[in-house]
Amino acid sequence: MEKRARALIAARQRVLFVFLINLTCDSMLKVYNTLHKTKEEFKSIEDKKIGMYVCGPTVYGPGHIGHARTYVAFDIIRRYLEYRDYTVKYVVNITDIHDDMIKKSAELGITIFELANKNIELFMQDLDTLGIKKADVYPRVTEHIKEIVDFVKDLEDKGFAYETDDGVYYDISKFKDYGKLSGIKVKEQKTGTRVETDKYEKDKAQDFALWKKQKDPSEPAWDSPWGKGRPGWHIECSVMSSKHLGEQIDIHGGAVDLIFPHHENEIAQSEARSGKVPFVKYWMHSGFLNVEGQKMSKSLGNFIEIPDLLKKHDARAFRFFVSGLHYKSRIDFSEKAMEKVDKTLEKWDLFIERLLEWKGENENEAVGKLVGETREKVVGALDDDFMLPNACAALQQMQTEVNRLIEKNEFGKKNAEEVLSLLKEFNEFLKVFEFEKKTGELTPEQEKLMGKRKQARKDKDWGKADEIRDKLAEQGVIIDDTPQGTKWRIAK
Ligand code: AMP
Ligand code: ZN
Repeated sequence: MEKRARALIAARQRVLFVFLINLTCDSMLKVYNTLHKTKEEFKSIEDKKIGMYVCGPTVYGPGHIGHARTYVAFDIIRRYLEYRDYTVKYVVNITDIHDDMIKKSAELGITIFELANKNIELFMQDLDTLGIKKADVYPRVTEHIKEIVDFVKDLEDKGFAYETDDGVYYDISKFKDYGKLSGIKVKEQKTGTRVETDKYEKDKAQDFALWKKQKDPSEPAWDSPWGKGRPGWHIECSVMSSKHLGEQIDIHGGAVDLIFPHHENEIAQSEARSGKVPFVKYWMHSGFLNVEGQKMSKSLGNFIEIPDLLKKHDARAFRFFVSGLHYKSRIDFSEKAMEKVDKTLEKWDLFIERLLEWKGENENEAVGKLVGETREKVVGALDDDFMLPNACAALQQMQTEVNRLIEKNEFGKKNAEEVLSLLKEFNEFLKVFEFEKKTGELTPEQEKLMGKRKQARKDKDWGKADEIRDKLAEQGVIIDDTPQGTKWRIAK
């Protein structure tokens, strides 16, 4: 189909979705705001428009599945807001200058630009394979040095920053609201305590570097009123969010590790400079991903890069896995949990295939009601601070009910189309369903196994039939015994 024709159909579908949501669902969107530690009614600053900023990667190495959790969680949130008829401008920054980048590029004997370019390419590939919609802008720190210098100069002129031998620091005692996001107490801070590196002492409020003076000619550096140097870590997000979204933004996200010091410091910088409060209306933080009960780290050897995960599992299964828990919950990743999700996804694939091929003639009026109720439950769940697990449970209930009607032959072709249309509608933000059959052929050996299994079922030798099913599944051939006979599909 021509691109334009497809775009037209998608636009028409959108109008229909919005109409249906408004018709059937009257719930209002609520968001948990870390700033107030409560769930609040969501109201964008500008009607129907949202400025959304999510802290992106420091590109000194390839991304891992912890990053993927955060990016997928915010992708679903962003897509859901669009489904709810908001126009979202989505910005994800790229930290391409950082202490870790300098260290890593020296280790590898390449420039920080080479290191950044290599990892940005990997990052973009990961986003593609994970079905993540591209941000409107991916601003890079090294492309905003002039804006950063101007911002720091303004803070200095306004009395919020001071120069030392090694840099320019933010004076947190000058910002009366310091600590309002994280709850950190400034009173406990010894005057003049500064943190030069990006590594904070845990839970200790300190003056932080806005600009770091060059110590060694090998360090990357740019000109500034304070001599050659480079930006500190926190300043980039204040500068790039205001440049691309304005001085006040609707949603700012990142994982929970960033609440302090990074986001606390962003507030101090942005509100001090613009005088506009709040800098961010809704602060949203995703939970951390742990592996087999442990914090993911290279030293523990449980660090899983995104392409390695995707060698074993469908990217859609990872999205499903992330959707099984609320975005704020900590996720425990394990092979066992992923295998369970693989099976759930297989069931969905088979279910959708069944609907696509369904030719039943007994249309059932109750299906329209079932579809309407499911829409209401899913939208209601997502309106409640993006409660995806409840939405998934409602979809699962619908699947069970439809299968029951199919078994009883109380389900028609039009009913199948209705259910498929709802799944397509939700797939706008879930991106877990596939509506085209994966083509493939069985090998002669697999054909033989299928024959043997057919015979085993005839002989009511269920143990043998199951054994062959598992063997075929290991080879990526998924079996479904339907009332119309045994069907198969290629898993990946
Ligand atoms: P970084 O590259 O470490 O600066 O992280 C990029 C984004 O991924 C930030 O929003 C982090 O908060 C988030 N992130 C990093 N590690 C994890 C993890 N293990 N689980 C969830 N999110 C993470
Ligand atoms: Zn940031």
